[in-house]
Amino acid sequence: MAIQQITILGSTGSIGVSTLDVIARHHDRFRVFALTGHSRIEVLAEQCQVFKPTFAVVPNQDAVRKLSALVPSTTQVLCGVDGLLEVASHSGADTVVAAIVGAAGLVPTLVAAEAGKKILLANKEALVMAGALFMDAVKRGGATLLPLDSEHNAIFQCLPPGFSGVSSTGVSKLVLSASGGPFRTTSLDELSLVTPDQACAHPNWSMGRKISVDSATMMNKGLELIEACWLFNVSADEIDILIHPQSIVHSLVEYADGSVLAQLGNPDMRTPIAHALAWPERMESGVATLDLAALSALEFEAPDEERFPSLVLAREAGEMMGDAPAALNAANEVAVAAFLSEQISFPRIAEIVAEVMASWQHGEPDCLEAVQEADARARQLAEAGIVRYQNEV
Ligand code: NAD
Ligand code: MG
Repeated sequence: MAIQQITILGSTGSIGVSTLDVIARHHDRFRVFALTGHSRIEVLAEQCQVFKPTFAVVPNQDAVRKLSALVPSTTQVLCGVDGLLEVASHSGADTVVAAIVGAAGLVPTLVAAEAGKKILLANKEALVMAGALFMDAVKRGGATLLPLDSEHNAIFQCLPPGFSGVSSTGVSKLVLSASGGPFRTTSLDELSLVTPDQACAHPNWSMGRKISVDSATMMNKGLELIEACWLFNVSADEIDILIHPQSIVHSLVEYADGSVLAQLGNPDMRTPIAHALAWPERMESGVATLDLAALSALEFEAPDEERFPSLVLAREAGEMMGDAPAALNAANEVAVAAFLSEQISFPRIAEIVAEVMASWQHGEPDCLEAVQEADARARQLAEAGIVRYQNEV
């Protein structure tokens, strides 16, 4: 078996670290070609010492100097977005794990698609912002796109091979499961007092801070709904959202004959990561087998839209498409960052996104620049909203 050469964009984050954990169990299958990090340079240095990549990428010349002194002489340190684009499209890389958080992940992931890589996609924001352009780049480049997001990976596992749209396949619905986050049962009055650390204390998953806040507002599930539309070529009304607090059933597919297929497992991202790395084979991930007898119960409930207004906003953007999802994503990123730096309260995140979407002048972006322009415009509108609410906290 040829060894797969892997680039991990965002190797110092939660998904990046889990990916390296899986790779370390299978030296016979994988070699790390490139690693990239944005802030935790010491963590990146340790990863380079262990995995000895050909390239490492950091954001600026200062970081290049710092990292170069700490890594093996065989690792070349590259700088900035140019460095990210080089390792995402380099002929020496077979597989690109897209695990940068937020809009910053879009362009490197797009370039990997154009270069025809096998892409393991964690960065949902790339599909949310520029789904049409991204799927077109995948097709043109001959890339293979495999979802790492646990729900989409679950659906991918439950769909018939080669699925592309519900018509004539016997598939009637996709069902995304959602934990409901840490505030599923918190009283609505108390939500204005919750802190960033409380919002990031997810009951089942250990993740980066931005996606953790998105899980608490359920914007994460809204972004995932839009992500699923592009990945599986379905419309927003062909996707249901189901709250399942234990995060054991990772998502489901309903068929016309009444069958419902689900993928189950312990909540650990190493399962979808190992699935996508080995696909179409299977391999060990380090995750313990699910002990169903030890679980007391699996619960399910419909989401409460009053508690989770972000879900409604995301569904509307997913029905509208065009540049609405890019605007939603950008406004949300700005609002989440303001909440994490304690400038606004938790309920204001959804309110700011709602205000941006209410005044949004809809467009149909046909190029990357148009997506980036929509992203910038929504960020400005959201910043203006934050200034209005800042004094309250
Ligand atoms: P994280 O914050 O832990 O890590 C983010 C990574 O991106 C880090 O390596 C960081 O250095 C890098 N990064 C941040 N800003 C950057 C920039 N401007 N330029 C280049 N690199 C930058 O995030 P995470 O939890 O690992 O999530 C990564 C992505 O995966 C997100 O898009 C998230 O939605 C998605 N995802 C995560 C999980 C999870 O369990 N953590 C599950 C599903 C999907
Ligand atoms: Mg997910």
